Amino acid sequence: MNLKIFIFISFTILIIMNSESFSQEKLQYNDLTKAESYVINNKGTESPFTGKFTKSKENGTYVCRKCGAALYYSSDKFESDCGWPSFDNEIKGAVNRFPDADGMRTEIECANCGAHLGHVFTGERLTAKNVRHCVNSLSLDFVPAQLNPGRYGTAIFAGGCFWGVEYFLQKAPGVISVTSGYTGGQVKNPTYKEVCTGNTGHAEAVKIVYDPDKTTYDKLLKLFLEIHDPTQVGHQGPDVGDQYRSEIFYLNDDQKNIAEKDLKILKDKGLKIATAVTKASEFYPAEAYHQDYYFNNGKVPYCHAYTKRF
Ligand SMILES: [Zn+2]
Repeated sequence: MNLKIFIFISFTILIIMNSESFSQEKLQYNDLTKAESYVINNKGTESPFTGKFTKSKENGTYVCRKCGAALYYSSDKFESDCGWPSFDNEIKGAVNRFPDADGMRTEIECANCGAHLGHVFTGERLTAKNVRHCVNSLSLDFVPAQLNPGRYGTAIFAGGCFWGVEYFLQKAPGVISVTSGYTGGQVKNPTYKEVCTGNTGHAEAVKIVYDPDKTTYDKLLKLFLEIHDPTQVGHQGPDVGDQYRSEIFYLNDDQKNIAEKDLKILKDKGLKIATAVTKASEFYPAEAYHQDYYFNNGKVPYCHAYTKRF
């Protein structure tokens, strides 16, 4: 082959490869709470039996809290009684091992972003694989779906009854999972009944996990602003109360900037926007019977409908 043609083809392939991984590279890391940063950035350890995933058995994938990379499958999780989530296998290539500074243990970190996860132990004979990844819950987030290796984006929106928001966003291209839940308030582990009183400060919200190669935060946000009415105050459609307010809970500065940009577009069109833009705090998944409500019940939402606004 002519050398010039060979170089040209090589460069073209390189450009295509780079453009494919572009959206993954663009995905900004999630902001961390003080407790999360202590574990993830400073290699700290959460107190045993305090983590939210220590006992969990739900089917799905555990991802890196900081970067959203898929790390462990629930099928590899086992009960070790050590006080931290335990796995006897990692998703291929997702976890790096290093000798700990203590000279005894082997430290594990997210292969993508370097987030500290915990330690890995062998020879304890707890499972057939004879391996235990002892991981801090604070280093993890949970996605109720089977994910391929790679990074995933998260978005949190509140726009009235979560059944309706979930219904429309679940159908959007690139969306992997939508979880209904509560966030933005001051009560820990709230129940639906408590949130319904309007006194917990929480909003009914959805947590979306998406594939950044197939969609973007901007696309999902615009859809969110078109399937609920962002001008309504103190209610959404027939649902009245502060828990039905319109609010965007951003996980990093990129999301905040996109939210402000999209809301400005609507304001410039003359809409009196009520949607608040707030830094995300703990998201509490709602009771199981609230998940996939419209799909499980074969109904269509009474509370939400699509209106073109962008
Ligand atoms: Zn990571």
